[in-house]
Order: sequence, then C-alpha cells, then structure tokens
Amino acid sequence: MHEFGIAESVLGAVEKRAAGRGVSHVRVQAGALLRITEPALEQAFSMVAGGTVAEGAKIDLIVLPVRLDCRSCGGSAESTDALAACPGCGGLDIDMHGGEELLLESIQLTEEEHVPGDSRRGRGDPA
Ligand SMILES: [Zn+2]
Repeated sequence: MHEFGIAESVLGAVEKRAAGRGVSHVRVQAGALLRITEPALEQAFSMVAGGTVAEGAKIDLIVLPVRLDCRSCGGSAESTDALAACPGCGGLDIDMHGGEELLLESIQLTEEEHVPGDSRRGRGDPA
C-alpha cells in the first residue's frame, strides 16, 4: 500500500531526529498529490513504528496545496484536492505544480515519566 512507503520514510526521519528518545507526536506535511489521509497514514505508521521509538505516536498530517494552472482560461489556483477542476471555468485541462512534497515538520518527545518518591513515609493512616 501507498501509505506504507510514506510511513516508512516518515519513520526513518523521525528516528533520526529522536535519537533514541521516545516520540509521542509526529507532524507531517504531505503534498496533495500524494493523496494520503491522516487516518490511513496513522494506521500505516502505527504498524511500521511498532517496536521503535515512535511506537504509539500520534500523527498530525498537514496537506500542502498543489498549484493549478488552467490551460483553458489561463487562471491559476491552489487546491488540496488532487482531483480538482479549475475554479475559474470548471475545466479539467490543468497543469499541476508541486503537491508531491513529504516533510517531517516536527516531532514531540514523550515527557519523562515522573517517578514519585516515597513521599508518604511517616504519614501513618490513623485507622
Ligand atoms: Zn479555467
């Protein structure tokens, strides 16, 4: 599946940046022409990330728009819909630019778990 290749690329970048630390959130920018959705990417990522620093991490997907240049009316527009028609004339004879980017925008590390000390020592329960 398409999303698995993308998820693996993302995971590789995440692992490099995390350098062994646990990752809780991953923010990814992907061009509209990749036609991925956040649920599909998250599902694929959770499978490829099992047993890595990013196991269980949540994915935020930001879809980057593609630029449309219409050959019929000469208009141009941006769209996050990979199957867009020209918003000016409704034409489908369109040149698309961009939309195939895949970027790891940021990662969020898991907070270090707070391990409570023995703070209750000496406080007996007066039952
Ligand atoms: Zn047009």
